[in-house]
Amino acid sequence: MSTQWPLEYDPKYLPSPDSPYWNEKVETMDPQEREEKIILPKLKAQLKYAYENSPFYKKKWDAAGIKPEHIRSLEDFEQIPFVTKDEIRQDQMEYPPFGSNLCIPKEQIARVQGTSGTTGKPTAFGISKGDMMRIAEAHARIMWGFGMRPHDLVFIASFFSLYWGSWGALLGCERLGAGSFPFGAGVPGQSDRALKWMKEIKPTIFYGTPSYSLYLAEKAKAKGIDPRKDFNFRILFFSGEPGAGVPSTKKRIEEAYGGICIDSGSTAEMSPWMSNCECEYRTGMHLWQDIVYAELVDVETKKRLPYGKEGATVYTHLERTSQPMIRFWSGDISQWTDEPCPCGRTYPRLPKGIYGRADDMFVIRGENVYPSAIEDVIRSIEGMGDEFRIIITREKTMDELIVQAEPAPGVDKALVPQLKQKLEAELRAKGLRTIVEMLEPGTLERTEFKARRVIDKRQLYDEIIKK
Ligand SMILES: [Zn+2]
Repeated sequence: MSTQWPLEYDPKYLPSPDSPYWNEKVETMDPQEREEKIILPKLKAQLKYAYENSPFYKKKWDAAGIKPEHIRSLEDFEQIPFVTKDEIRQDQMEYPPFGSNLCIPKEQIARVQGTSGTTGKPTAFGISKGDMMRIAEAHARIMWGFGMRPHDLVFIASFFSLYWGSWGALLGCERLGAGSFPFGAGVPGQSDRALKWMKEIKPTIFYGTPSYSLYLAEKAKAKGIDPRKDFNFRILFFSGEPGAGVPSTKKRIEEAYGGICIDSGSTAEMSPWMSNCECEYRTGMHLWQDIVYAELVDVETKKRLPYGKEGATVYTHLERTSQPMIRFWSGDISQWTDEPCPCGRTYPRLPKGIYGRADDMFVIRGENVYPSAIEDVIRSIEGMGDEFRIIITREKTMDELIVQAEPAPGVDKALVPQLKQKLEAELRAKGLRTIVEMLEPGTLERTEFKARRVIDKRQLYDEIIKK
């Protein structure tokens, strides 16, 4: 492994088509050896670079009394203070548009991207030319890991404006030599056209959000199209939502399309480095530690946790020259393990995916609730439709949780009261007292992007009470 940093990759390199690995040596290496020989040297170089080129980190680490040369091990690395989403937003407001962490002159920006701003002020990303190449390399390597090959044709069914995920997928396909169909999403009538093209062109791999794939499958069936027979997807991979890691959602997607469902993605600030991603065995997302170094940290003590535990994910870029994130506190909750995976890779895994997205969490009667837990219950019940809504209200100062669901199309109306009872009972077994409202099939809004399924009306109640 070269000690050069930033890393330069040979853009012509491809593994042998029958190799399951892009880089067998690194992917299957003894984890401790990989930490010493690859991760730590990259980390040290990344820290030095950030300190010298990012006023943001210089100020932050000086205030904490830390210099990059103090960090000699991954244990030392725990001394580096976390970076939060709010801090990045605040910094971008003070130093618009890219913040004081850009690290490169504006003239060297190859690509401007941004977050979609669904949860607050959008964040602006300015990506260097070298980073574009490293993004492509990382994606190609990881996508190879779940089975994408140069003979594949990839249908990218998600937004192509501010959503980084679509662009990262495209860059990776091109680097890997696979064909791509950057179809996009969000234009009126586009879902109907997507069905038509998927049937005619027969792409072999699908990329989008889990919500959208289920919506497309439902729409196809209503038109008499069978996604298993009339399309030709052998792999469907997803990011942007936790769904592809939610067991019952994964099952529904695989049953609908007849291909394997792959979960990927971390958080917008780290993207599009697709450094959390499942392999073809779908045992939970691998943490590709030599691309982005991930830690699982106790939410209270902020200390790194042993394998088997649940905590918050913290990420560090190891090869990013523009806006590197170093110990980025995503707030997302997961559990990690180092149990072996049949693929032979020695990366740790998140066996249950990221089931607690910080942005999605709500608190009801003092308990933290993640919508993905409710999603898993709903989609595990046969006869229940894919879509749902969670409405939180406040009655006489008591929080009330209402779950709206639909029977699947074609389900006998006489069975609906049983579905309602079953859902209520299963949610109660998980400690959630809810009122279930069953709606007519097709009532709830479908989405082409990330679903916003939680509607919190409590503030409204508080405002009424104040008057
Ligand atoms: Zn694996």
